[in-house]
Amino acid sequence: MPDYLRTLFLHPPSFEGFDGGAGARYQARREIRSFWYPTWLAQPAALVPGSRLVDAPPAGLALGDVLPLAREYDLAVLHTSTPSFAHDVRVAEALKAENPALRIGLVGAHVAVEREAALAASPVIEFVAGNEFDFTIQEVAQGWPLGRVRGLSYRVNGHLGRTPERPPLENMDELPFVVDVYRRDLVVEQYFIGYLLHPYVSLYTGRGCRSRCTFCLWPQTVGGHRYRTRSVEHVVAEIARASRHFPQVKEYFFDDDTFTDDLPRAEAIARGLGRLGVTWSCNAKANVPKRTLEVLKDNGLRLLLVGYESGSQAILNNVRKGIRLETAREFTRNAKALGIKIHGTFIMGLPGETRETIEETIRFALAIDPDTLQVSLAAPYPGTALHREALARGWLERESLVDGGGVQASVLGYPHLSRTEIFASVGEFYRRFYFRPRKIFAIAGEMVRDASVMRRRLGEGIEFLSFLARRRPARPR
Ligand code: SF4
Repeated sequence: MPDYLRTLFLHPPSFEGFDGGAGARYQARREIRSFWYPTWLAQPAALVPGSRLVDAPPAGLALGDVLPLAREYDLAVLHTSTPSFAHDVRVAEALKAENPALRIGLVGAHVAVEREAALAASPVIEFVAGNEFDFTIQEVAQGWPLGRVRGLSYRVNGHLGRTPERPPLENMDELPFVVDVYRRDLVVEQYFIGYLLHPYVSLYTGRGCRSRCTFCLWPQTVGGHRYRTRSVEHVVAEIARASRHFPQVKEYFFDDDTFTDDLPRAEAIARGLGRLGVTWSCNAKANVPKRTLEVLKDNGLRLLLVGYESGSQAILNNVRKGIRLETAREFTRNAKALGIKIHGTFIMGLPGETRETIEETIRFALAIDPDTLQVSLAAPYPGTALHREALARGWLERESLVDGGGVQASVLGYPHLSRTEIFASVGEFYRRFYFRPRKIFAIAGEMVRDASVMRRRLGEGIEFLSFLARRRPARPR
């Protein structure tokens, strides 16, 4: 076995409660405290023997807690994002000041699309990696000269270098299991998502999405538009191992961009999970046929996370969502009839948004009535078609995607609809959806049935109400 540098994989400390780790698609502090698993860091960590993964925000670690680690390692690989980049660079500088011999690299979609700009942000950054960085980082950790490692931009003798791109990984079974790293370095109880059972574990069974939604970050940066998948046996074996590592886990979540992009495979994985007897959930597009839903449900599927985005067909067409509202309605009816829970996600302020389409979307959500929902603001991430469109059309009214507390900010404004109105529509959407007798009874019923759910929901309810109180409706301009 080759020698490896002592390697630290770090999701840096950031805004309090910031869900911006190497598994959060849209990095922000959420309405209620949430944390995704840092899976994109766990994968290279699994390829580097003796490494350690530190996920600072869920662990409640501040800069002072992680600084001493700088002296214990030769190499630090930090995952960064557009909203947290400036802060993450300051963490890198503090680590370097603590141990001047420490070599520091950055990974993540933000640096993958702006590699030289990221390097220029600070002299302490020795390299940044391109899109898919698992084996890139493994080679760096094996001590290869940076000029020989594919998929890197790097600093050498005061100059910047760039190596040829690394081809996308085709045999996804080459990636080792992340659950071993989770067990070694993470505490599963520290990871919460409001609509998932607790504790949960999430991982990927493949990368990439066949759709081309203009706002969506990962398929346009790190994942691509082919759904590259692990074999059914590999996935089922990892869940079997996870069940042994974490008998307390109540639910597994497959966080592939669109787990249902390959229906026969999704059904085959479901049958394998059914034999294990685990409860699981996944991301889905709102077009899964009824017969597939039946197979998934019969084999332990509990919840689908569905990106509806908008109740306006014109907006769905504008962002190339590739779905008809009628298909989404039929899918939702079928899923609900089978008893599959739905967490629906919506985005306010996408191109074409008007006061009328905001109303259409709220009415659409009330009509299809997912069990829970999440409303986000359109976020034009660098590297996406939406970002390019916003720059070209002059819609970008503010640079930073989050405010000073890490909460999502409204950045797109249109001549007919201000970003302040778009911001206020999120609060209105939540109020009209949740403050209905049927939703209040559903949440109360869930709390009465389970004391641990009661404790959790009470805490989340307080957080949610204070989040809404900060979003006062704006007067139309
Ligand atoms: S279907 Fe979902 S994951 Fe795929 S590109 Fe669209 S938003 Fe992204």
